[in-house]
Amino acid sequence: MSASMDAIRQAIAEDAPSEAIAALELPQTMRAAVVRKEDEQHFEGIDAADRDPRETLHVQEVAIPPLGPNEVLIAPMASAINYNTVWTALFEPVSTFSFLARFGKESELGARHDLPYHIVGSDAAAVVVRTGPGVTQWKPGDRVTVHCNYVDLERPEGHEDSMLDPSQRIWGFETNFGSLAELSMVKANQLMPMPAHLSWEEAASLGLVMATSYRMLVGANAARMKQGDVVLIWGASGGIGGFATQFVLNGGGIPVCVVSSPEKAEVLRGLGVEHVIDRKAEGYRFHDEDGAPDYAEMRRFGKRIRELVGTDPDIVFEHPGRTTFGASVFVCKRGGTIVTCASTSGYLHEYDNRYLWMHLKRILGSHFANYQEAWAANELVARGMIHPILSETYPLDEVATAAYRVHRNLHAGKLGILVGADETGQGIRDEVLRARHLDAIEAFRALA
Ligand code: NAP
Repeated sequence: MSASMDAIRQAIAEDAPSEAIAALELPQTMRAAVVRKEDEQHFEGIDAADRDPRETLHVQEVAIPPLGPNEVLIAPMASAINYNTVWTALFEPVSTFSFLARFGKESELGARHDLPYHIVGSDAAAVVVRTGPGVTQWKPGDRVTVHCNYVDLERPEGHEDSMLDPSQRIWGFETNFGSLAELSMVKANQLMPMPAHLSWEEAASLGLVMATSYRMLVGANAARMKQGDVVLIWGASGGIGGFATQFVLNGGGIPVCVVSSPEKAEVLRGLGVEHVIDRKAEGYRFHDEDGAPDYAEMRRFGKRIRELVGTDPDIVFEHPGRTTFGASVFVCKRGGTIVTCASTSGYLHEYDNRYLWMHLKRILGSHFANYQEAWAANELVARGMIHPILSETYPLDEVATAAYRVHRNLHAGKLGILVGADETGQGIRDEVLRARHLDAIEAFRALA
């Protein structure tokens, strides 16, 4: 660590006043987790499932980016692994250097992002170190979490919902200077107050997946779950699924959670989930060897859901994609909604359209969340109504191991990464609120 990075960490640890932090000298370089452009062809000819992110995700010394208008330099104390970092390291479905090159052509400020390395990471709990010209809502020393929607809002399309802005990008995936670095650059309109009862790594684990699930189920832009709705949740102990489960419980819905082990099922039951299906134990295979749909298997799955809750799901929370999508459309209730934000197992889906149109179902695409949605979800956490789903935490040097575990589905909930914090459990300010919700905050650690 450089001498000036040391001074920044010291000032943060001592809760130094804003002016003192603003006056600190910035280092020339910092440590960051990167993918290198020279590795772009590294996995050519190898299936995504067989690629190993440990071969392409590196921690190295890089330059500090210059700050532009309405931008903020933050010192991430902790970050987390998202699936987008796995995709970046696998160069799947495309190399993220194509995003950076396109951004580089847009403007002088965009050109800063087009580098031969990509600093990844889309979640952080951090402290503001510098603010650029025009920033009015935040100051050095503020403790923040980060919403990873990176948007200028210069175009009219984004003003009702910033996710519709043609310039919308995911920070640390479609932009450079992500959160897995000692210093990181964000727009001021990405920042949110850090919930005071959480540690750095707990707060850092919320952002991307929590806001995505909020929009899919709660916000005004997607499925808009009602009290009493039955919601089928795939991967219910994973990143987005773990929050989907909590939003359904919190909003008076009835979750039917799909997981792949008895341990995961047990943790969900501990959170108050009554209906869990272990897909491994049941051995569902919705397609035969040649990829043709197996309706008997889909019927067996639908029957199991009816046995549990007495009805078909009003909403199916979809993201595994190719292997489950046909079954999701099949089992969804007449008039129900399949809401999807991903295709982990493959993005070319096949479903039988008769079951969609004849039964008046609808498929809704959803992508991440706007600032208002992310802020609303962050407030639910700050009030102790929704909790982190952190299971394990790794130091920055072991970021590639953490990404590997997510790629191989060896994890549950979220995996945290310590960046500026020396150890887990630091950064907590409201011990009273924490004590009230400790069991729920720590529930997913049982899956470490
Ligand atoms: P995650 O933590 O790995 O959780 C996904 C879970 O899905 C897994 O733990 C697994 O749970 C289940 N799963 C995986 N493959 C499956 C399959 N073939 N069939 C059934 N279940 C399967 O990942 P995540 O962070 O929740 O993200 C999930 C997906 O959403 C990723 O593709 C990610 O890129 C995407 N995503 C999209 C957005 C967006 O804004 N569009 C935002 C966040 C995430 P079990 O083994 O327990 O069943």
